[in-house]
Amino acid sequence: MNGDRITHFEAARPSHEGFLANRDIEGALSRASGRHRETDLDNLLAGGKGDLRGNLTHFTYEIDKIDVCFVHVFLPFVCGRGSLPKGRKSPCSRELVVDKDRRCAVDVTVTDLGNDLFQIDTEQSGYKGITAGYLIRGSKPTLIETGTASSAPIVIAALEKLEITPKDLATIVVTHVHLDHAGGAGHLTSHYPNAELIAHERGAKHLVDPTKLMNSARRVFGSMIDDVMGALLPTPIERVRSLGDTAAIDLGGGRTLHSYYAPGHASHHVGLIDSTTGDLFVGDAAGVYIPETDTVRPATPPPDFDLDIALNTIDTFESLKPTRLLFSHYGPVSKIDETLDRSREELRVWVELVREARNTRLDLDHAIAMIIERTKDRYAALFANEMAMERFEALNSTGANIVGINRWLDKVEANPYDFGDAAASAPKTQ
Ligand SMILES: [Zn+2]
Repeated sequence: MNGDRITHFEAARPSHEGFLANRDIEGALSRASGRHRETDLDNLLAGGKGDLRGNLTHFTYEIDKIDVCFVHVFLPFVCGRGSLPKGRKSPCSRELVVDKDRRCAVDVTVTDLGNDLFQIDTEQSGYKGITAGYLIRGSKPTLIETGTASSAPIVIAALEKLEITPKDLATIVVTHVHLDHAGGAGHLTSHYPNAELIAHERGAKHLVDPTKLMNSARRVFGSMIDDVMGALLPTPIERVRSLGDTAAIDLGGGRTLHSYYAPGHASHHVGLIDSTTGDLFVGDAAGVYIPETDTVRPATPPPDFDLDIALNTIDTFESLKPTRLLFSHYGPVSKIDETLDRSREELRVWVELVREARNTRLDLDHAIAMIIERTKDRYAALFANEMAMERFEALNSTGANIVGINRWLDKVEANPYDFGDAAASAPKTQ
């Protein structure tokens, strides 16, 4: 973090002293309610320091000789301003790190994948290692996947670490507009004024007007969407570019990102292949890869999942002969044929299990229990790793996969079946 240091917390109203005077900042952050912290910001901004709003990236704050980085304390509220009404819990659960100069050091995880390609851990919902964004640095720096709205401060800090200034970023492209891939789009186009936002033509309209997408998510998931993911904010239409079924995105220096229509997980999904490295950004179209346990699971949420189309997309990926698969969840994989074969097999196994659950008329809870039991050997390593299991189940729940597959089976089989769980039948965010 570069920039000025200010010390006017004394001006804050007494009602904030309990929070601001608490020297156990990390503890205070974890205990402080969103209400207190929102109010702190309101008063700070209303207290004659209006330029803060436009320059938040250039300040650190000194409180009782302890620096508290705005990224941890304030930026989540500014970024999530439309999505964090008073009383809502902050999604910010990151650790506070202070460097030797008592400046905040943001603990972002950026991994160099070679050839100016970097993986960014967007720390979705406070979990490390489940959702990645990627940055291709060059004369036209390009971000692939934004992460959720709540992750925007992390992504901004990661790009800062990679020396990408707000003016530098040329392109933001998303594989699809689910909130874990595109939720931060509005925040990031606002922070990076020169960046063009790119998505497939079937999804791009939701980036311009996210009302329908957010309303349908809220209708079913309620405030959880705002609290955990944050709201997708609109981007002006003139900054959004729609992709056809194939397209080329110029990365500068003769390097190109070729886009291929890749539906099945979502009807507006694309895969993106880097002309220099042969890396293929697969989004969720080949499922979810869990690096700790070398496990592939399907990603089959409603409402779009379609087995036949998803299998065709995996064939398309294979035909592109990529050198690596870069999963949004999570990271690079070099064993192309083996992994894509597993992606196909996962889809077929789960579809058969859901078909069986329908035929035996299980409710959703029993269907989940049945699938867990019947896949316990397949996922033995994952089930043995409690931490990985918790993180990836939060991201890619068994219930959502079942409901997504069921919806597709309703279309292709004679008798529709209701698992009796309306909540899980909503558009999912994975
Ligand atoms: Zn996803």
